[in-house]
Amino acid sequence: MRIVLLGAPGSGKGTQAVKLKIELGLAHISTGDLLRAAVKAGTPLGLKAKAVMDAGQLVSNDLVLSMLEERLMQRDVANGFILDGYPRNLAQCEALEELLDRIRQPLDIAVKLNVPNEVIVARCEIRYKAEGRADDKPQTVRERLRVYTEQTAPVADHFAELGHLVVVDGVGELDEVFKRILGALRSSRAAVA
Ligand code: AMP
Repeated sequence: MRIVLLGAPGSGKGTQAVKLKIELGLAHISTGDLLRAAVKAGTPLGLKAKAVMDAGQLVSNDLVLSMLEERLMQRDVANGFILDGYPRNLAQCEALEELLDRIRQPLDIAVKLNVPNEVIVARCEIRYKAEGRADDKPQTVRERLRVYTEQTAPVADHFAELGHLVVVDGVGELDEVFKRILGALRSSRAAVA
């Protein structure tokens, strides 16, 4: 199965993607994790991306696409994948569709985790205290939410127009949200079958 996981920063995408990876045996591809690894390793990509990420802005489409393309060429992707953090704007959406067509791995479904902004702000504050991610600072979280509303929310609308979107309530215990996601995936499969 090939899944795109959508949702605002702090909506729980990363955590749920790890659970899905284990449950469904899929590759977990997080562009945020790939970028953070590049920053940590001090690669040319990481050096270009760091300031943009710390400011809560989006890294350029070209840089992220070439990084994603490289990741999608790895062997584990053949069994299906969960894409977490990509696409984040409509241009990335188009680039993804082209890329997946080219490697004959079209998407099955997009799952959007719905979480109100006030819950997001509170969650990111907790994560900031625990992990110290620069982009979890309260003022940066507000900027990331603004970028999300402006650029990423239209991506969910695009998948909805294609009939590929399921929306899941992302508020609640981790396991409860996970069950909701599995239920949504099952019923979408049933709808397709
Ligand atoms: P995330 O962990 O998905 O919240 O990503 C952390 C940061 O990495 C984002 O705030 C962006 O600066 C950058 N990033 C991750 N994915 C993308 C993407 N698809 N396009 C542009 N920037 C991205």
